[in-house]
Amino acid sequence: KLENATLKAELGRATWRFLHTTAARLPDKPTKDERAIFETFMHLFALLYPCGDCARHFREILAKYPPQSGSRSAAAGWLCFAHNVVNERLEKPAFDCNTIGDFYDCGCADDDKKKKA
Ligand code: FAD
Repeated sequence: KLENATLKAELGRATWRFLHTTAARLPDKPTKDERAIFETFMHLFALLYPCGDCARHFREILAKYPPQSGSRSAAAGWLCFAHNVVNERLEKPAFDCNTIGDFYDCGCADDDKKKKA
């Protein structure tokens, strides 16, 4: 089957949005369990992502730069960095990770006290 670059890019955009929004919702001070869930999820995600080449490359990134989860900002900063590694490979401009603060908003109500800032 031929590659459909439009669909591949669309899946990429949706997925990055989901991943960055997830990192942005990690608690400021995650528990041991919350940290393990975040890090394990990233490794499982890298095994399941439907674009095989993308997933393989992302697994290499994870091996070199293991997921960071000590705090929300550490997780968001790590993922921003990892996305920039992909951007570089695809010859896309780097994102300024210092400005990631409020960029990813889940639009959800703050009904979960644990997730409040
Ligand atoms: P995207 O890279 O999809 O980014 C979407 C938006 O996120 C940008 O417009 C910008 O606002 C913001 N953004 C950009 N950089 C960052 C950052 N560092 N941190 C936070 N936000 C940022 N495609 C391939 O062709 N080959 C691959 O090997 C490949 N690997 C991928 C691996 C993963 C894990 C994922 C999720 C996607 C991969 N893709 C790959 C898809 C590719 O990364 C893009 O999603 C796709 O090309 C669409 O690019 P885009 O220019 O719309 O911006």
